[in-house]
Amino acid sequence: MADLLTRLEGRERHQLDEIQSAQARLESGTFGVCEGCGDAIPLSRLRALPWARHCLTCQARDEHR
Ligand SMILES: [Zn+2]
Repeated sequence: MADLLTRLEGRERHQLDEIQSAQARLESGTFGVCEGCGDAIPLSRLRALPWARHCLTCQARDEHR
């Protein structure tokens, strides 16, 4: 497994981190809750991006910062 991890680079590796942290949030019961405003992330967004940390509003705000 460690060997596989070292071969993953850039985006793939980042995505793996995101998936792992999504799993941690799932276990702690905070999965699907926006880290920015605390609101529920819409299911449609979670379907498109299961490891999303922010709702669209907060995501847009972050991108424009
Ligand atoms: Zn939000």
